[in-house]
Amino acid sequence: MANHVIVGGGPGGMNAIETIRGYDSEASITLICDEPTYARMALPYFISGDVSEDHVLTGDNDHFSKLGVTTKIGSRVTSVDPGANSLTLGDGSTLSYDNLLIATGSSPQKLNIPGADGDGVYNLWTIDDARKATADLNGDAEVAFIGAGFIGFIILNAVHKIGAKAHVIELDGQVLPRMLDPQGASLVDSWLDRQGVSVSTGVSVQSIDHGADGKKTLNMSDGSTISADLVIMATGITANIGFLDGTGIAMNQGILVNSRCQTNHANIYAAGDVAEGPDRSTGKNAVHAIHPTAVDHGRVAGANMAGQDIEYGGSLSMNILDVCGLQCASFGVWKEDSEEVTTVVNATRPVYRKLVWSGNILVGAIMIGPADDMSMLNDMGMVKGLIQAGTDLGAWKNHIVANPTDIRRPYVATKTASRLLENTVLGKPAAYRDYQASTASTKSWENRDLLVGSKGG
Ligand SMILES: Cc1cc2nc3c(=O)[nH]c(=O)nc-3n(C[C@H](O)[C@H](O)[C@H](O)COP(=O)(O)OP(=O)(O)OC[C@H]3O[C@@H](n4cnc5c(N)ncnc54)[C@H](O)[C@@H]3O)c2cc1C
Repeated sequence: MANHVIVGGGPGGMNAIETIRGYDSEASITLICDEPTYARMALPYFISGDVSEDHVLTGDNDHFSKLGVTTKIGSRVTSVDPGANSLTLGDGSTLSYDNLLIATGSSPQKLNIPGADGDGVYNLWTIDDARKATADLNGDAEVAFIGAGFIGFIILNAVHKIGAKAHVIELDGQVLPRMLDPQGASLVDSWLDRQGVSVSTGVSVQSIDHGADGKKTLNMSDGSTISADLVIMATGITANIGFLDGTGIAMNQGILVNSRCQTNHANIYAAGDVAEGPDRSTGKNAVHAIHPTAVDHGRVAGANMAGQDIEYGGSLSMNILDVCGLQCASFGVWKEDSEEVTTVVNATRPVYRKLVWSGNILVGAIMIGPADDMSMLNDMGMVKGLIQAGTDLGAWKNHIVANPTDIRRPYVATKTASRLLENTVLGKPAAYRDYQASTASTKSWENRDLLVGSKGG
């Protein structure tokens, strides 16, 4: 009977567990995670009050018991010995494995400025952060965001929904520098201005003063100050690979994996934010720290750990974001200005589309438009599908270049939807997840039985 050990209970680890069990009802599976199992991408809905804390969780004792998974929640892995097929936990105990999956995710980068460690300054990366921050957050609060990237803006949207006043500070010359080009970013800037969100770009926060009344003052590089009740720091992330130093597991920005999500050690796999795996657009390896990549990696790694032979076509770089009512997305190699590009702009609506071509194939795109523009939202999905499927548009390319807002006809004519449907990660449809959040709307975090000690833990 195979002995699988999974480190990390985010979407990467959870999908691997459920995939292994789908192929093998007998194998021993142990999950080690220093946090409860949940989906970070659900945190903004908890912060805005749209869902209770329970709905962020992705498993409980009952679920793991039904799956026959031994859990060690609250435990950290401190080192791995690939030669001995064993790992060490924070309490000094060791555990052996036949197959190991490292799905330890990433952590927010710390901003090393005076006052950054004070009360009311959050990364909002964990469920624990979100619980603490929501206690301070209400419609009267003023919230300063340090960093105008994807994660910062997801949280900005949640804060905006509550009605809190927001200030965004970005060191780069534009907002969303890793998601939009300057033209797209300028539309977002004007939109945020209309929503009452102040944006300062090209400046940095030098220090945070904490007043006796809890009010914070952010001292900026240009000499100005910003006042806030809460500060959210979202200045980038790094893969959680430090505990693997000296193990011989090949790493770059993340753990290097092949198309089977396998590392340079045949029985050690990696998935999700921590993995630097094949990028379907470039053919090179890249870290795509997004939920869908973690899901795909987890399923591919899990299937191969269970003895299948599954090759992954690579993850697609994609970001889809609601910026206070303005939908923004970028896919694939949207930044490649050397390639042939089709653009359409209407700054007043505002609408922006940038389509990047390689011959007759769409390889990247930026799409921006208001949330009530249904055709834009439909086109967003179809453009993503065309890029994902690598559809050769042939003569339809000229049609799109002449009519960049008519994506539907080329999409239907090239049968892209049916090709995408056939192209599943594991060669079969995803299985139904037999886990439902409790129907109770509120549950005390402290009192919750956090899965610790379930089946053999
Ligand atoms: C607020 C927020 C909103 C987001 N929204 C979106 C979104 O809308 N769309 C999107 O695509 N992505 C979103 N993301 C990103 C997405 O959540 C991540 O890409 C995803 O969680 C990665 O999954 P993972 O399984 O690789 O890692 P994680 O979900 O980070 O899980 C890894 C787990 O392993 C644990 N761990 C780490 N080291 C150890 C160790 N040594 N021992 C034991 N356990 C360890 C971690 O504590 C963590 O619990 C969001 C992220 C945040 C924070």
